[in-house]
Amino acid sequence: MSSQIINPPPRLLMGPGPINADPRVLQAMSNQLIGQYDPVMTGYMNETMALYRQVFKTQNQWTLLVDGTARAGIEAVLVSILEPGDKVLIPVFGRFGHLLREICERAQAEIHTIEVEWGQVVDPEQVEQAIRKVRPKVFATVQGDTSTTMLQPLQEIGEICRRHEVLFYCDATASVVGNTLLVDEWHLDAVSVGLQKCLGGPSGSAPITLSDRYVAEVRKRQHVEAGIRTAQHQAGERPRILSNYFDVPMLLDYWGEERLNHHTEATTMLYGARECARLVVEEGVENCVSRHELHGRAMLQGVQGLGLQVFGDLKHKMNNVVGVYIPEGVNGEQVRQSMLLDFNIEIGTSFGPLHGKIWRIGTMGYNARKDAVLTTLSALEQVLRRAGYQAPAGGGVQAAFEVYERG
Ligand SMILES: *Cc1c(COP(=O)(O)O)cnc(C)c1O
Repeated sequence: MSSQIINPPPRLLMGPGPINADPRVLQAMSNQLIGQYDPVMTGYMNETMALYRQVFKTQNQWTLLVDGTARAGIEAVLVSILEPGDKVLIPVFGRFGHLLREICERAQAEIHTIEVEWGQVVDPEQVEQAIRKVRPKVFATVQGDTSTTMLQPLQEIGEICRRHEVLFYCDATASVVGNTLLVDEWHLDAVSVGLQKCLGGPSGSAPITLSDRYVAEVRKRQHVEAGIRTAQHQAGERPRILSNYFDVPMLLDYWGEERLNHHTEATTMLYGARECARLVVEEGVENCVSRHELHGRAMLQGVQGLGLQVFGDLKHKMNNVVGVYIPEGVNGEQVRQSMLLDFNIEIGTSFGPLHGKIWRIGTMGYNARKDAVLTTLSALEQVLRRAGYQAPAGGGVQAAFEVYERG
């Protein structure tokens, strides 16, 4: 079998992620490799740390990249902090809450959950009650869960966690820079993200930021590998972390002044992650969030202008993704297929209890743009007509234009 040079079709990715990468990120990633201890490379690593401090709105020294997709960041944070038997409290309000639980289970933690119906968020009072009862070491939540489009408010929970001396972790992969996230102000102790949502890059790098409180705790599990260990390296008093690759203290010593050998930094991904952050810092984090709010609102009003019903509690909807009920009598998968194959536009399906019930349409990162919104809405109208749904003529595009004209 012969293969051909890679030549993917020019898709417009309007699902819940991944999305098209910003061309500047792709360009950054096409640069030649350098050695991992080259001063130019360690300079790029330090710049990347400084850039992500701005993205995360934090002073945290320990702001760095975990190599791997977003769940590599989640796993590093959780497996490093949770010793077998430690208690963790997790609200589950969508697919990614289940993922947090699954990762904590594998870390052999004692799991406590707050179950919330898909399409809702958890009430801070409920969190405080559960914290009083469970007394967890860690409270772990998702900020924006793309499976339900819901954005969990975090500020009050941060105050609650601080009051009860609980470490507060959040997976903000889908929400960062598309929705407000104030790491220091909200007392978050650990946050992890990925590039493939609002940051406008490919998946494969997981920026994380860690408070001094979190770091002091995981340092107790410090363990330096035989082969690079010297007389100065003292083992921590607590049991060794169960994963080598995701051992946060080892990652810190690699990103820190000691530059102690661990994995080989994924240089190309670092080039990309650095450019993602540069783009956001150049635009301004607040402006980037406002851009997602504007185009997200145009998409929301647009689908409503097509007479479609929207999923979930809109008060808590993320800016950058909308859940749209598949109308009666319309084959949801056929619509997605026609969008993809006839128009080169990808929209998302959904998981679990929402499977077959809603599509998910994203407006994020490089694709949080007026032309991408209008093109998607006009294609959707035509595809829906062919599927037998009587969409109001021009209703989607018109509603979106009104949002843009009003501002
Ligand atoms: C998209 C998403 C992820 C993605 O994880 P990957 O490992 O990069 O696939 C993680 N968490 C949330 C909340 C997401 O929306």
